[in-house]
Amino acid sequence: MDLGIAGKWALVCAASRGLGLGCAQALVAEGVNVVINARTEGPLQQAAENLRATAADRARASGQTAPAVIAVACDITTAAGRAAVLSAAGGPGVDFDILVNNAGGPPPGDFRDWQRQEWIKALDANMLTPIELIRAVVDGMAARGFGRIVNITSSAVKAPIDILGLSNGARSGLTGFIAGLARSDLAARGVTMNNLLPGKFDTDRLQATFVSTAARTGQTPEQVRASQQAQVPAGRFGTPAEFGAICAFLCSQQAGYVNGQNILPDGGLYPGTF
Ligand code: NAP
Repeated sequence: MDLGIAGKWALVCAASRGLGLGCAQALVAEGVNVVINARTEGPLQQAAENLRATAADRARASGQTAPAVIAVACDITTAAGRAAVLSAAGGPGVDFDILVNNAGGPPPGDFRDWQRQEWIKALDANMLTPIELIRAVVDGMAARGFGRIVNITSSAVKAPIDILGLSNGARSGLTGFIAGLARSDLAARGVTMNNLLPGKFDTDRLQATFVSTAARTGQTPEQVRASQQAQVPAGRFGTPAEFGAICAFLCSQQAGYVNGQNILPDGGLYPGTF
């Protein structure tokens, strides 16, 4: 299915690996020009090279121009980082049609140990940064009559995890904000915004949680991985490519009537009916 977004410009945050990279890959495969970012230059440039190979493959197969891939090494949670990525799309007069909000997740822990600064850091990364980026791009999207915003949050928004209090709190704040904004006048002006709530996807972040759980419980990371995998009805973890495909669909022309939703790809792990 042609998603009808070739030639659009997307900003995909925190995308040198994992879910952000999966989203960037799926968008580039659709012919979307991307600006990606991450803090560490080497892996970011490597990811950009791999995306350019995907872009070249698409150009050969479609006979169209290869989509552009621009990499900006910066911390998306800082004002300077956001300014750098926002000015990176294709030259004067080129604005973003698609925004994929993403950043690293906050650390696990006991809320008794968190002071104001830990909360502010989590809120900055997982609530206020996405809101700032939306604020920067959304009116331009509405003026042009097309915009797609996808926020990568977490299954913890729907089924909170006790040791992830910083994540539960910050991401729920973003979710509430999006629920209101998605139903504003922007909806009739071609802008949709949805949240993607990953369950367990096989990334470095998931592996890091196995290591920390193993340290707390006296198991090996391999034992934690096996027991968590056994709890997923699908019998496996998700892949960044599967996640990216859902993201690309939410950014498509066809998804123009999907707005203000919380989509939970988790292999059936969430046990509720709704
Ligand atoms: P990951 O594999 O650790 O990748 C994180 C990516 O974000 C890397 O490219 C990293 O590069 C970049 N990044 C982190 N902090 C950044 C910052 N401040 N500014 C710019 N780039 C930044 O993580 P993931 O599994 O893809 O997870 C993505 C998000 O989904 C996280 O918020 C995570 O908590 C959430 N999530 C993931 C899962 C899962 O199963 N994987 C489940 C629920 C929620 P640098 O380190 O070089 O900056």
